[in-house]
Parts: sequence; structure tokens; C-alpha cells
Amino acid sequence: METQLLDIAAIRDQFPVFRETLPNGSPVTFLDSGASAQKPQCVIDAEREVLETHYANAYRGVYQFGAQIDEELEASREAVRRLINADDSSEIIFTSGTTMSLNMIAFGWGGRHLKAGDEILLNHMEHHANIVPWQQVAERTGAVVRYLPLTADGRLDLQRLDEFITPKTKILSVTGMSNVLGTINPIPELSKRIHDVGGVFVVDAAQSVPHQVVDVIADQIDFLAFSGHKLYGPTGIGIMYGRSDLLEQTDPLLFGGHMIDRVYEDHSSWAEAPAKFEAGTLPIVQAIALKTAVEYVEGIGFEAMHGHEVSLTQSAHQRLMEFPGVTIYGPSIEHKGAILSFTMEGAHPEDLAQLLDRKGVFVRHGHHCTMPLHDLLGVSSTVRVSFGLYNNQDDIDRLVDALQFARHRLRL
Ligand code: PLP
Repeated sequence: METQLLDIAAIRDQFPVFRETLPNGSPVTFLDSGASAQKPQCVIDAEREVLETHYANAYRGVYQFGAQIDEELEASREAVRRLINADDSSEIIFTSGTTMSLNMIAFGWGGRHLKAGDEILLNHMEHHANIVPWQQVAERTGAVVRYLPLTADGRLDLQRLDEFITPKTKILSVTGMSNVLGTINPIPELSKRIHDVGGVFVVDAAQSVPHQVVDVIADQIDFLAFSGHKLYGPTGIGIMYGRSDLLEQTDPLLFGGHMIDRVYEDHSSWAEAPAKFEAGTLPIVQAIALKTAVEYVEGIGFEAMHGHEVSLTQSAHQRLMEFPGVTIYGPSIEHKGAILSFTMEGAHPEDLAQLLDRKGVFVRHGHHCTMPLHDLLGVSSTVRVSFGLYNNQDDIDRLVDALQFARHRLRL
């Protein structure tokens, strides 16, 4: 199918941050969308509109503002349901972000069902948010965390699945796309393999939801987590998806108002999902504006967005490879999403990031919350370039120019 071309100039115009220049006069070259994406005007307006015209707490008041807020929250839940093709909007739980969602899954499902000797299968490319909660649950239940090995080029070693997915494997939790290597994981195949042994399949979709179609039904995903802020939406709002029968067997992590059915002096019972998992006051404004972000990316279209991001990543990959001493980590470009992490011989990643910043080129450096992966790669830190739908070829030119400037400064 031919990829539809995006009008990137028009898209950039929708993001107020790109209308500004930096104090030194350079344009903003934002190459850190993997950490958090910039916001289009419509998302900013959606938040402001709620605050200016009808703000109230949610699920509490029958008065007009309260009723409108409830309606808008449910419309947002429905938009997320559509985005990931869930069966029912009650399977969409508002959380504060991917980290919270993964903790809720690990403790809520894992804490209830895991027992000594059970296995949780992870791998070295996971973000700490998809490692540490499982380690904690394992410590409390006696379950064991195992790591499916990676291939030399940073993909899951599927040849070894039989060895690692056994009847002892109760959970397989995997990222849709690595936030360092850019590796896109084979979700349908992994789903089938873990279900063949009766295990539960969890997907950390923090990096995949902003770039590709995610379909929890087609891919038979049991639990899924993502953050609004990486999807051009607000911070402080994220999603935990759980299949309804699994949510029934999942304990809430937070207890208090709104999540109850009945409270007595000495015990309480829980409401049905999603309320059961939404104790306390939600990030109301952010949750409502998440709908605008979802509609924004749907309006642009994942196919067009993906085509654009692939061509940017290919171009950046090629240009980076031309630099002497540059190592790009992870698989070949056809297995990668819109993320490139690299090191340059003789340059510390932090120095590089600082020198690039002087030219208005914003990249991230460090371990990117993936210490086990960096241990495996044998480096403590990398520079990461990650693209959003608003990036263009000029951004790559400016990255290359800034790297040349950095090399010169570092006398490489
Ligand atoms: N998982 C992955 C793959 C990520 O890239 C991130 C954020 O960088 C997270 C989880 C954590 O997301 P949040 O900080 O929004 O909870």
C-alpha cells in the first residue's frame, strides 16, 4: 500500500512550541519524544476549556458541571477503547501513567495469583517500570523473575522461547517497542506462546501506542499499559487495560473513595471495574484531554505517521553511520521504530548531549531507565534520538551539524 504523505509543515504549526525560537535564535530541534511528546494546540485548548468553563470533581455531583465532566470522562474512556480495540470501555482504567499501570498489574494480578516457584518472564530490553514491580512481587510471593535472552543485534531470541516459556511461566511481560534499541517486538507470536502454556500476557505499550496500531483483541493482549504524555496528551494520565474476566480476578492497589461498593466499620467491598481501580480523585482535566490527543493521532492516521517516522529514522540512521566512531545499538532498521541510541568513540554521552543542546538540538543521554540493557551492551550511557510525528528532515540536518560541532569541540 502506498504511504500517504503528511504535511509536516502544517503539523508543526499545530504545536505552539515550534513557533518559538530559543534565546540564541536557533529553532527547537526536539528529538526526545520517546521521553515525552510535545502537545498540539488542540490538547492544550481541551485542558483549558475544561478549567475555564465547567470544571468539577468527577463521579460525585449531579449538578450540571459534574454531569458534564462525567460524560466527558466516559467519552475519553470510549476513545481509548476504540484506539486499542478493547471490547468494552469498562476495561479501560485511568491511572497516572505506564509506571502506575504496570504496578497495578504486577501487584493486583501477580500479587494475588503468583506463588513460590512460578515464573515471570521478562527480558533485558525492558524499562525499569516493567522490571522493578515484578521483582518486588516476586520477592513477596516467592515467584522467580527470568530473562529471555536477546540476540546479538538486540532482538528477543525467539529460538529460545521453548526453553523459557514453560508451564511454570505465569506471566510474560514485554515492551511493544524498546525505548533504547527501538526494537519492535513480535507481539502476536509472543501472545500465542504464553497462552499455549496458560500464562498471562502483559504489554508495556508506552513506546508503541504513539507510533503503531495496537489491537488488544487481534493480538490477544491480557493487560496493557501506556502513558498519555508520550501520545501528545497531558502528563499525569495513563491507561491500564485489562480483559474484563482478568480484571475481576485482579485486586485493587489503591483503596479509598469511589472504588468501593459498600463500606462497613470493619470491612468493605469493591465496585466493579473501572471504578474498583480508580480510588480517589482522578486527574480529571488530563483524562478528558487525553480524548483530544487520541482523536488527534487518529485524525493523522497511524499508517501515514508510521511511514513518515520510518523514513526519518532511516535517514538519521544512515547519516549517523557516516560519523567515524559511532555505534548505533539494536537491530537493523527494518526491525526498529522511531528510536536510535548511539555512542561516539571518545565522547561521553553527557558531553555530547550538552554540546548538541548549545545548537538547540535536544536529545537524551544516560541509561534511559534500562540499566540491565546497558549492562548487557557494556556501556553505562548512550545518546538517544527519538522522533515524533512533527520531526522533519531539517531536524536531522541540524542533528548532523550539531554532532559535527561537538566533534570539533571535543577535538575528535
Ligand atoms: N515503559 C517504557 C518502554 C517507557 O519508555 C517508559 C517511559 O519512558 C515507561 C515505561 C514509563 O512511563 P511513565 O514514566 O510515563 O510511567
